[in-house]
Amino acid sequence: MELLENVKTRVYKFGNKKADGNRDMKNLLGGKGANLAEMSSIGVPVPPGFTITTEVCAEYNELGRDAVVELIKNEVEASIANIEKLMGTEYGNKENPLLVSVRSGARVSMPGMMDTVLNLGMNDEVVLGLVKKTNNEQFAWDSYRRFIQMYGGVVLGMKPESKEDIDPFEEIIESLKDKRGIKLDTEFSVQDLQDLVYDFKDLVRKRTGLLFPTDPWEQLWGAIMAVFNSWNGDRAIYYRTMNGYPADWGTAVNVQAMVYGNMGDNSGTGVCFTRDAGTGENVFNGEYLINAQGEDVVAGVRTPQQITKLGSQRWAELAQIEEEERKELYPSLEELMPSIFEELNGYQDILEKHYRDMQDMEFTMQDGKLWILQTRNGKRTGAAMVKIAMDLLKEGMIDEKEALLMLEPNKLDELLHPIFDPAALKRSNVIAQGLPASPGAATGKIVFFADEAAKYKSSILVRIETSPEDLEGMNIAKGILTARGGMTSHAAVVARGMGKCCVSGAGALKINYKKRTLTVGEYEYHEGDWISLNGSTGNIIEGKVATMEPELSGEFAQIMELADKYGVIKVRTNADSPKDAKIARGFGARGIGLTRTEHMFFEVDRIKAMREMILADTVKVRKQALEELLPMQRVDFEGIFEAMEGEAVTIRLLDPPLHEFVPHQLATQKELAEDLHVPLQAVKNKVAELEEFNPMLGHRGCRLGNTYPEITEMQTRAIIEAALNLKERGVICKPEIMVPLVGTVKEYEAQEEIIRNTASLIFEERKDSVEYLVGTMIEIPRATLMADLIAEKADFFSFGTNDLTQMTFGYSRDDVSKFLPIYIEKGILKEDPFEVLDQEGVGQLVKIGTQRGRSSKPNLKVGICGEHGGEPSSIEFCYNTGLDYVSCSPYRVPIARLVSAQAAIKTTL
Ligand code: ADP
Ligand code: MG
Ligand code: MG
Repeated sequence: MELLENVKTRVYKFGNKKADGNRDMKNLLGGKGANLAEMSSIGVPVPPGFTITTEVCAEYNELGRDAVVELIKNEVEASIANIEKLMGTEYGNKENPLLVSVRSGARVSMPGMMDTVLNLGMNDEVVLGLVKKTNNEQFAWDSYRRFIQMYGGVVLGMKPESKEDIDPFEEIIESLKDKRGIKLDTEFSVQDLQDLVYDFKDLVRKRTGLLFPTDPWEQLWGAIMAVFNSWNGDRAIYYRTMNGYPADWGTAVNVQAMVYGNMGDNSGTGVCFTRDAGTGENVFNGEYLINAQGEDVVAGVRTPQQITKLGSQRWAELAQIEEEERKELYPSLEELMPSIFEELNGYQDILEKHYRDMQDMEFTMQDGKLWILQTRNGKRTGAAMVKIAMDLLKEGMIDEKEALLMLEPNKLDELLHPIFDPAALKRSNVIAQGLPASPGAATGKIVFFADEAAKYKSSILVRIETSPEDLEGMNIAKGILTARGGMTSHAAVVARGMGKCCVSGAGALKINYKKRTLTVGEYEYHEGDWISLNGSTGNIIEGKVATMEPELSGEFAQIMELADKYGVIKVRTNADSPKDAKIARGFGARGIGLTRTEHMFFEVDRIKAMREMILADTVKVRKQALEELLPMQRVDFEGIFEAMEGEAVTIRLLDPPLHEFVPHQLATQKELAEDLHVPLQAVKNKVAELEEFNPMLGHRGCRLGNTYPEITEMQTRAIIEAALNLKERGVICKPEIMVPLVGTVKEYEAQEEIIRNTASLIFEERKDSVEYLVGTMIEIPRATLMADLIAEKADFFSFGTNDLTQMTFGYSRDDVSKFLPIYIEKGILKEDPFEVLDQEGVGQLVKIGTQRGRSSKPNLKVGICGEHGGEPSSIEFCYNTGLDYVSCSPYRVPIARLVSAQAAIKTTL
């Protein structure tokens, strides 16, 4: 054991065109580490360094700091020596110091969710050595004060004291700026920076009771452990949970030689994207700052400048800055440092082609030399995701299958959200302009703090800038508006990842957290006031703006067509009305897998006839009431058939328990009694009679049709007559009549007989006929076991996985909220089985039901119509089980079409 432990590699080196790791080792090295190694191997200039694996993070969680230091000490020391050799400097040396950064990096990118510390190895002596060596006092002291600030925050845990407060170090910076009458941190004198270092150290001592650590090795170990700890920080946990990433992944730690963007006017740092992460447009874009370090661009410390000239001009137009002023104050990198720009442009091209996907990169220029510090597949909006996939396909960089596989199904959802109605936009009052950081249309009430986003049903989070702590609130808010920060700011990147509308860097906004006001010129807005954001133009609009439904068009339509080329399992929709059927058809649904008929009875004019039917004591009276309902149902079905012309429409016979239709309040009971001319007591008695202990296991489904056959007769008549009426008008329809909640063969047979007899009778009456199918919903565990016998009679099966899950687990769906969240938290259940099909258990029944059904009827049509029909992993399971179709709500149809293609493609790989 000892021996084995010792041979395991825990630290991977990179630098000087070599690397121990590569891009495929994300699970072990984290995304950042794997890509640093890859870039180093393909000759992209990255500062040398090493990666401590994610496995060590797990060891840290189990064994603690001391044991882990013991485990990796030798490897870390050897790797630091390797950096020293490559850089020609020495860690902790007072004359020729090496400084390093310690960076987090999980296997997937979690922007800003974990911690990083820059400039480690600094102390009172090293700073003097650095001054001597570089002959640049400004730079050396700036690096020192930045180090204390970051180390203090990340490792020593010095955070703002309350949400109205700012970072305690920033507070000192701000007050010094005020005192000195300067605006920017680049304007500090050497003396100022020295004062900051002194004040920062003093603050640390006062707050923590400890002296700031001066030993470079103590600093290094402290930072490494802090990065491991950040994996279990609140932000990281929230982000993981939101995205469903398991806690045991852990983070890697990257230690890397510092390169300095804060060395003066020939240095700087920036972030760039190979394509537009908001729209997907194929334009190189990004932002940078001269004489800056690390997160300065992202954190919105100063107004960042655009990398390309075109981008800079577009930005100036939005910010209403004249061309002269732009060139003078905010020139693009392309204009300011053309040769560095060319080099960067070359690397972005190389990296995009190498990774065959849009890249999000970080870079730093130190005294005219360019270094690349990170590359990753960039986060993007749903719209950008679709456009980029189609463009890469058209450019020949990827093939059709790869284009389909690179899409994240659930992100298509964003493309189906409402957009602003152009007519309403014309009439709206634009109060200010920001940067179009993440497209979309958002309307909501102003809130100023992330933890208050849930205060209103629709809120817009308005911040000077956002920080990673705000993640949860950003997720809840309908849109995000910031006064500071550019297109690569934290708010912008996170919003695009979430597909949330965001307008950033709206400089005209004055936000006062203490008073909770937003001021723009002479207007003042308060918390709770309505505003709207147009994330595509950057417009900030007063009040509410009306929205409308989006359409499937452009690249979205193309990619969907491509999906249909590969998709095998068909996609139908669940629709109870012609309107829903039309929407679903627009999204590409091929038929209806479930029309619930009960909703049709709840409209005012119908509920009365329905109640009359229920209260009837004799078959005769019941039939009379059903007579009244017949024409109404027939019209409904005609509408739905017409909307789905040419495609199959599955209609489920009445399913819910009757007590759902009777009034439970005295006033309504009185009304009903008067309407029906019966004593109030009769109504009350009936309601009491219908009361059940377990309605979901009670008198419902085909138990209704078997006890009141006239209901089945009426519904069959409505369906068949509707189909005949349409046939007369030349509209083709394919009705499929579905019997719910079958558990025994006889239950099904009895219903089928009524349906077929009724249909034959109508065909005789009308001297005409239509083709129709009769089948059943499979939702009672017993039915899956009897499936071979049921299939002898039934034309089709449709798995009702909501009830099937309910009855297989024995969980009442209406009561799970009491224990399910706790089960998930404790890991007793991995997921909510009502959302994600339980493939292990309930899935077995789906398999058995399908196999047994097809054993007696090989061409039996089988589908699924539960909530799971629109959930990606469940759809994939249905495909692998050999189902013919899934049926889902209209807005899930495009997602299901994509998953259908992906599932089929995956089996060919
Ligand atoms: P995040 O994952 O939050 O982006 P990073 O580890 O990438 O955190 O680092 C934060 C910032 O510091 C980035 O802008 C990065 O480019 C910069 N940075 C990290 N390491 C170095 C280094 N060795 N030299 C210069 N800048 C660095
Ligand atoms: Mg980064
Ligand atoms: Mg059911």
